[in-house]
Amino acid sequence: MIDDLNKIMVEVTGRCNAMCPNCSRNIDGIKLDYDALGPASGWDMPMHIVKKVFTNRMLNAVDDIELNGCFGDAPSHPDFKNIVRHIVANSPGYKETRVQVHTNGSIHSTEWWRELAEITNVPNMSFVVHFAIDGVDQETHSTYRRLTNLQKVFDNAKAFMDNGGETQWEMIEFDYNAHQVPIARSMSKEMGFGQFNVKKGNRNFVYLKNKLENKPVIKAEESKKHKKTNITVEQRPKFKALEKFVKKEFDDNKSTKQNLEQYAKKTDIVCKWDQPKEKGIFVEYDGVVHRCCYTGDNHRIFPKEWKDKIVSNYGEKFNNLHYHDMQTILAHDYFHKYLPQSFEDPTGSGYQRLTKCIENCGKHRHLLN
Ligand code: SF4
Ligand code: SF4
Repeated sequence: MIDDLNKIMVEVTGRCNAMCPNCSRNIDGIKLDYDALGPASGWDMPMHIVKKVFTNRMLNAVDDIELNGCFGDAPSHPDFKNIVRHIVANSPGYKETRVQVHTNGSIHSTEWWRELAEITNVPNMSFVVHFAIDGVDQETHSTYRRLTNLQKVFDNAKAFMDNGGETQWEMIEFDYNAHQVPIARSMSKEMGFGQFNVKKGNRNFVYLKNKLENKPVIKAEESKKHKKTNITVEQRPKFKALEKFVKKEFDDNKSTKQNLEQYAKKTDIVCKWDQPKEKGIFVEYDGVVHRCCYTGDNHRIFPKEWKDKIVSNYGEKFNNLHYHDMQTILAHDYFHKYLPQSFEDPTGSGYQRLTKCIENCGKHRHLLN
């Protein structure tokens, strides 16, 4: 129910100016994945759907709003400022609303960013922009943030901060940029970023699913002492750790695949987005509502699984704001019955688990952070 929610993540657009190689919206950082994204005419959430998401009731319920997602860069939405104006105008005001925006920061003029700071500088709102900056020189930064311009990112962040905007520097650490982390940290302080955050750049994406379906594992790029080499995802240390963990849980004599099959059926799943004080939902640019951002791209990335497990039970429209209001969607069996029972008793209930739930919230989850 809306009133029980604490947080909401909304992907207002599937649009982006960059081509980061691990991003769901492209293939190997080279070409757009139109099969997953759909046509460009549908990439921007229309204002009438934005208003169906951010109703007074929703804004009254949640404390945390994140404008982020799997496919797009929020400020790329052509009407982004009006979306923000709508949130500002309809937030309750008697309590603090925290809004976080994630961006590569390499679009729009400094004037645009200055005005964004003005719009969001209101009482009882904390509005923070997280800039993704993966290096301290253009070459290093754009190794991952392909097609972005580091100087432009710095200029935009500065313009936003100079006008009172709050920022954080988000850095993904890879082998090739690890040596720049301390420099980036001190630069972030000098430039006035409110916080500097580093996360490791290894995604667990599709590993388990491919393994269970006997499909070839996808290629990954790793660098050893800054020299790039091609490896497969399963050669990454975190997956070796997962295989070891699963072997220990079940049977040393069985194959990895057999153990993973057991694991997929039996591991304890703790739904990170359905905890008493951490109850959230995720809304995609096409108006589709999900429990979380991990399952948010399920119907695009694993369309067969989504069709077999979910669409075969409920059809295609049950969780789409173009057809239903938010209250009706959240009261649907998918949220109340399917997901919880798939975590507790997938065999007895007949509600099969989504692979993303196993991958992201299974017992091994501590190994993947
Ligand atoms: S900036 Fe974000 S949305 Fe854009 S390509 Fe990179 S990861 Fe994807
Ligand atoms: S992946 Fe599944 S279990 Fe994890 S938070 Fe999302 S819905 Fe919950």
